[in-house]
Amino acid sequence: MQGNEDINKVYTLEKTLGEGAFGVVKRAVKKSTGEHFAVKIINKENLSNEDLLALQTEVEILTQIDHPNVVKLFEIYEDDTYFYMVLELMTGGELFERIVEKDHFSEKEAAATLRPIIDALAYCHKMGIVHRDLKPENLLYSTMEPGALLKVSDFGLARFVGSEEVMMTQCGTPGYVAPEIINGKGYTEAIDFWSVGVILYIMLCGFPPFYDEDNDKLFQMIKTGNFAFPSPYWDQISNEAKELIKGLLTIDPAKRLTTEKILKHPWLLNNTHKSIVNL
Ligand code: ADP
Ligand code: MG
Repeated sequence: MQGNEDINKVYTLEKTLGEGAFGVVKRAVKKSTGEHFAVKIINKENLSNEDLLALQTEVEILTQIDHPNVVKLFEIYEDDTYFYMVLELMTGGELFERIVEKDHFSEKEAAATLRPIIDALAYCHKMGIVHRDLKPENLLYSTMEPGALLKVSDFGLARFVGSEEVMMTQCGTPGYVAPEIINGKGYTEAIDFWSVGVILYIMLCGFPPFYDEDNDKLFQMIKTGNFAFPSPYWDQISNEAKELIKGLLTIDPAKRLTTEKILKHPWLLNNTHKSIVNL
């Protein structure tokens, strides 16, 4: 962790890779080694003093996270205006893009994709970190290669750069948010498994379980767990897959499936042990 050193002395910041709710992500080269990274630049003016302090504490924990399926945070820098997070560079694009390209995934492809996400969540939950903003846009492939690793990005950051107010007002669809967040009741790590349910649903059919252009109506659908497996899209999909989705999209967080139950679920076991799937 470099703290107050000038990031421009250590890294050359290059082209913008993308823009998020609270800042930009740029490609960067480490001057001493020539290695490539991604740097997420957060404008401090967008954060309250309280949030900024909490973010500084949180990144201490985030830099300790070391898992093959979590985008690595290497170090952080700070100046008067910005907060910089030096991240592992992901060049394979978002899970979302690969779903769109294929229209939807087969059950085997979906299971092979889901498995490492569950492993990453289990690891981070054990470290006391809840993602809170899991969605296909936050699942990035390391390279363009067919067998590239899928990694979870933005762990623990939603609290700062995706607060409820932001989630409610952002133009992006808040379709992944768990009912207990909408109800403002406080939350546990179970919220991540709700999002996993939404992601699995989308992987298998190519469209979201909860959707309405009107956010109030959308939130009503989520709060009542009002979703279906419409024909003909779901006709060929196994009942086990549907059971797993129902177990994840369970309104009561205490009854929602947890890591162990997901990992032991027949659908995941049956679809991951036989063949290796290249995505
Ligand atoms: P969001 O709020 O949409 O999650 P982010 O600030 O996380 O926005 O990222 C903005 C864009 O930068 C995203 O579209 C993502 O594809 C890209 N991006 C984020 N992290 C990385 C990374 N580690 N490597 C490469 N691209 C990244
Ligand atoms: Mg992101």
